[in-house]
Amino acid sequence: MRKSLYIISLGISLLSCETQNKVVQTVKPKPTPQKQVQPPKIVKPPVETERGEYFTVNLADAAKNDNTISFGSIVSAKPAQYNVVKTYFPALAQNFRQKYLVLHYTALDDEKSIRVLTEQTVSAHYLVNDLDDKEIYQLVDENKRAYHAGISAWRKDKNLNDNSIGIEIVNMGFTSDATGKKVFVPFPEYQFKKVAALAKNIATRYMIPPTNILGHSDIAPGRKQDPGPNFPWERLYKEYQLGMWYDDAVKQAFYDLAVSTDFQSQVITSPFIFKVQTMLQGFGYDVQPSGTMDDATKKTIETFQYHFRPANYDGILDPETYAILQALVQKYP
Ligand SMILES: [Zn+2]
Repeated sequence: MRKSLYIISLGISLLSCETQNKVVQTVKPKPTPQKQVQPPKIVKPPVETERGEYFTVNLADAAKNDNTISFGSIVSAKPAQYNVVKTYFPALAQNFRQKYLVLHYTALDDEKSIRVLTEQTVSAHYLVNDLDDKEIYQLVDENKRAYHAGISAWRKDKNLNDNSIGIEIVNMGFTSDATGKKVFVPFPEYQFKKVAALAKNIATRYMIPPTNILGHSDIAPGRKQDPGPNFPWERLYKEYQLGMWYDDAVKQAFYDLAVSTDFQSQVITSPFIFKVQTMLQGFGYDVQPSGTMDDATKKTIETFQYHFRPANYDGILDPETYAILQALVQKYP
């Protein structure tokens, strides 16, 4: 008798968690009447707001701290027999995890872009097709991590998949011509408008600063080229007030200063190269100041030109590139 009891108890202890739960449920004692949840003494009344077509819940006072806004539903724990109350004690010390907006091109057509970004090991939150229609595809929840950035860095941040929203644009990328120069495929106007509207909405909701609206190449210089020099960052800044761009007058002043000196003999000296590398690094690029014009520095300059001097992206530090860099560093310290 004793032995058989032992076998039974051993059998129960070997049951899986799921099965155990089921067992518990079947023998659950009659629930005691649920206690009325009493509001705490210091009550902060919930403020519910509708912003545009987005349902938002602002648990605290929006005027005090915009960070307490949540978009859509608030995901909460549902512990058995207990009640998680969202509205009593919203903390002011919180912000969004979404710090960056990163733009890409897929280097694939519509159909292959969808397949690769949904069935393989890479993904993005949004995919902008190259059709002149009204659709933008969402592939990943904004609150979840998508795998679009890979090894990446900007300013003090690394691995930007953790804190960014990724937008993939269907575009075939580039081919190399006879001289080895990369020739990039342009973005149609209707596609740029989709990207800009989407970026505007995301950046506004998460309050993403101009310095954190970037191309994949910016956060992985040399390793990535997308979205390339044909993506109109200047228009994104001027028409949608998004991202970074320099002021023409400031750039012109720096340019005049550069060409009034013996730029060509300065630009090859180690202290000058070190200074430029330090500026690029301070601006955000993941480049190590070495005082020599190494391959990583040339690639970083080419990447910088894709974004801020797209008319010529030869990777050479000329007076105009240097003037634009100075104007940007001054504007976005
Ligand atoms: Zn990319």
